[in-house]
Amino acid sequence: MSAVSSAATIRVLPERVRNQIAAGEVVERPASVVKELCENALDAGARELVVELEEGGAALVRVTDDGRGMGPEDLRLAFVSHATSKLAEVDDLAHIGTLGFRGEALASIGSVARARILSRRAEDEHAWAVEDLGGTIGPVTAAGAPLGTTLEVRDLFYNVPARRAFLRRTSTELGRALDVLQRLALAHVGTGFVVTHDRGRVFDIEREMDLAARVRRLFGAELAEALVPVAAEQGELRLSGLVAPPRFSRSDTTRQMWFLNGRPLKDRVLARCLLEAYRGFNDEKRQPVAFLSLALPPASVDVNVHPTKSEVRFRDERRLFPFLLTALRAAVARTDMATPGGRLLVPFPRHPGAAWPAQSGERPRIEELEVREADGPAPEALRPAPELSASAPCLPALAPEPAHAGAVLQVAATYLVRALADGLEIVDQHALHERVIYERLKAALRAGKLEVQRELVPELIELARSEVHVLTEHLPTLEKLGIELALFGPTTVAIHGLPALLARRAGPRLVREIVAALAEGEKLPGPEELLDHVVHSMACRRSVMAGDLLAPEEIEALLAAAARLDHDQTCPHGRPTRVRLTLSDLERAFHRR
Ligand code: ADP
Ligand code: MG
Repeated sequence: MSAVSSAATIRVLPERVRNQIAAGEVVERPASVVKELCENALDAGARELVVELEEGGAALVRVTDDGRGMGPEDLRLAFVSHATSKLAEVDDLAHIGTLGFRGEALASIGSVARARILSRRAEDEHAWAVEDLGGTIGPVTAAGAPLGTTLEVRDLFYNVPARRAFLRRTSTELGRALDVLQRLALAHVGTGFVVTHDRGRVFDIEREMDLAARVRRLFGAELAEALVPVAAEQGELRLSGLVAPPRFSRSDTTRQMWFLNGRPLKDRVLARCLLEAYRGFNDEKRQPVAFLSLALPPASVDVNVHPTKSEVRFRDERRLFPFLLTALRAAVARTDMATPGGRLLVPFPRHPGAAWPAQSGERPRIEELEVREADGPAPEALRPAPELSASAPCLPALAPEPAHAGAVLQVAATYLVRALADGLEIVDQHALHERVIYERLKAALRAGKLEVQRELVPELIELARSEVHVLTEHLPTLEKLGIELALFGPTTVAIHGLPALLARRAGPRLVREIVAALAEGEKLPGPEELLDHVVHSMACRRSVMAGDLLAPEEIEALLAAAARLDHDQTCPHGRPTRVRLTLSDLERAFHRR
């Protein structure tokens, strides 16, 4: 038999192909690159990380650290698969103390992107650099750089179009990358993080900040102040961290974090344990908010279950679970469980210069006033007395001073109640604000002064072909309204500009609403109707909502702005904005007459 005909059909795949296959497991999206690079920097003892992202990380992820760096011999191997400085024997797997150990990440990343390492150790006179361009590793060259390492990954999946096509829009990819970074920043108290996107600051975590300070910086004062600490120990098991009152629970797990020996992880056993700790306190469909660190001997947990190491296997689950549950349940029980009743009925006496707690979320502000960024709690005088928060059926008891004309009470964070000379008035804050914004928009339109905010990177939205078709005919009208759209593909529309009054994130919703309105009518609406519809939607988007707590200054500004309008008795949709009770109404109600 000749050598040719006996050639094996089974072949060992070339290294480059193997790396690309491995990349399928390790590198799913820009967020995975962020994770791997940051973990390497942390393993190298970095105290400060600078993470720069472009286009959600798809165009660039650059992580610069001040860790121990690599010499030229290390650089020759850094992109080679199964090359690692962290593990020599399989035995070592039993006590892994570093975040990485498989020696796979850089090889995988380099095979599906244009990667470059620039690194300098303290003992070297200058830095060294090496590139891996889609699996082709270049020579190690001399370079200039400060101590530490910069790892740059550009154009992820540029050579794997099939994978590239799976990347979502910039905002989605950015969101995932930031989720990873937030988790790392909370897991590594003691390390500083600076994160930028398209050169703009996203967040800064200073090295000295403790866990609570980090939570406050990332998620706001309201949550940070409500957290209750957990600390428990049993043998070599240690649990520490913070749990939030049940009312902070959310539909997603972005604020539920577990750290195991400093490694952020999403583990089903731990997640179940937390849910169990909140049982009875929490709506079961909602996810509790907690930041928890678990320390246990590396030998009692197997982290080598999954390539991304986000899942682990505990050797002694039966001991772990009850220990965690007891400690967590006790902490949850110590949180302030009061339903937001206390927030629903808040008196607003007019104290000159009184501060108000920072507003949560990013609701629209009522203009013409500055809400001071208060980062401390409200002064005692402004907070409802604690015993009133749970049950407060009796209105007068809440008022710290006798009501006088002009004092405004916000009820259920939705209605504003104020005394008038001849009775009282109840205002629906959303309806009234909507009317104010609506009039302002119309005035700006009439005067041709609608300011348009143009986007460098247009937001893309997917629509049905038929919807795109309908929309096309109305592009010029919409443009007059400051909504600048362009067709991007048969089912894609790009938002190039929006009225500056409108929050950018409101764009896609607004366009969808317009499309829905256009699709609904049997005949297409004329420009006048369309205009009205759009202005309605915009006014609605810009308005404070029922449920938004308003600062006293905002309430004043709102009422003052409404007082200047010709029509302020209904919202643009025709709902009333005010209900009035005159003195004679009251007299009749109390049988005084
Ligand atoms: P692993 O982290 O599993 O060892 P990687 O492919 O992520 O594998 O990295 C390979 C090796 O490159 C690491 O073991 C480490 O020695 C070195 N390395 C990677 N990034 C850095 C960095 N930022 N600073 C110092 N050394 C690094
Ligand atoms: Mg690594």
